[in-house]
Amino acid sequence: MVNVRVNIYLTHANKWCILLNMKIPKTLQQAIVYFSDADRAFEYAKNLRWPDGKVTCPRCNSDRNYFIKTRRIWLCQGCDKQFTLKVGTIFEDSALGLDKWMTAFWMLVNCKNGISSMELHRTLGVTQKSAWFMLHRLRAAMKGDLSYKFGGAQGGPVESDETFIGPNPYKMHRSRKLDLQRGRGQGKRYGYVDKTAIFGVLDRELRQVRAKVVPNVKRETLQNAILENVEHGSAVYTDCGVGFDNLHRNFVHEVVNHAQEYVHGQVHTQGLENFWSLLKRMLRGTYVAVEPFHLDHYLDEQVFRYNNRATKNNPLNDADRFALAMSQVGGKRLTYSELTGKNESPRHETTGTGEAPIPF
Ligand SMILES: [Zn+2]
Repeated sequence: MVNVRVNIYLTHANKWCILLNMKIPKTLQQAIVYFSDADRAFEYAKNLRWPDGKVTCPRCNSDRNYFIKTRRIWLCQGCDKQFTLKVGTIFEDSALGLDKWMTAFWMLVNCKNGISSMELHRTLGVTQKSAWFMLHRLRAAMKGDLSYKFGGAQGGPVESDETFIGPNPYKMHRSRKLDLQRGRGQGKRYGYVDKTAIFGVLDRELRQVRAKVVPNVKRETLQNAILENVEHGSAVYTDCGVGFDNLHRNFVHEVVNHAQEYVHGQVHTQGLENFWSLLKRMLRGTYVAVEPFHLDHYLDEQVFRYNNRATKNNPLNDADRFALAMSQVGGKRLTYSELTGKNESPRHETTGTGEAPIPF
């Protein structure tokens, strides 16, 4: 299922590289050179946004328009308004050029442990605040397709598990630990006070993961999350946590008791454990202090890289992952005020201008 979708976009992206007589960029260095040419970056992004070549207005969906080449804008005959390639995408209202956006995206989708806003700020020469906002917009584009469920006829057995992200009381100062202990009785287990609960499912056949922040790990919360993501009647493997009781009503539920063993034949959650360890490495190493409020966005980022990693049956490379991510930029606008609740936008360091709808 995934392979087919990737291939459609790759065919279009690669076709243009051939038409423009360019080698398809395979490395970050080649990509920077390739996309530094504004025309090339424009053609590349245009072909991923409208793979059938039919440019439609993001406001009224009309496909009757004039292209004004010198300004790289379209004049829509349906609503009589102009639009750029960025309108209706995560790039909308950004004064930054596509070259910067694409370099940032290439790095984000291909660096296993992510990229911090400080690193991006130094690499691109934009402010750290701008870089932080860029990364969040890019994460919005990396959000996966939730329109189908795991398991069922197409998928395989599904692993489900939960984990906690947050400070480790065994590594902190005694006074802080005592504060946390006093937080007992708030409905959370000792050691998990102040931590954010994450729920995850993994389909072994599709080799895909989904993860999201959940308010708690109560039975109702976890079961609803599984019902949302997994087809009825699928095989579901979990540990013997009480949150997973009653799953046998809707699923073929099998349990591995982690007090005795981690793997019981086919029944284990080691695939998800692997994902959790990658996630925690990313959060500890690169992002260090993540607000629980934003954690879902970081999950989307890690899930994208995990689901589009190179495997034997799906040998994706860096350029493929980038093309796939670029094909998802439409219809996912994220404004600064939505992200932060503040009514301001970061300023562009080199031009000193705010985020304005300037065609690139
Ligand atoms: Zn229109």
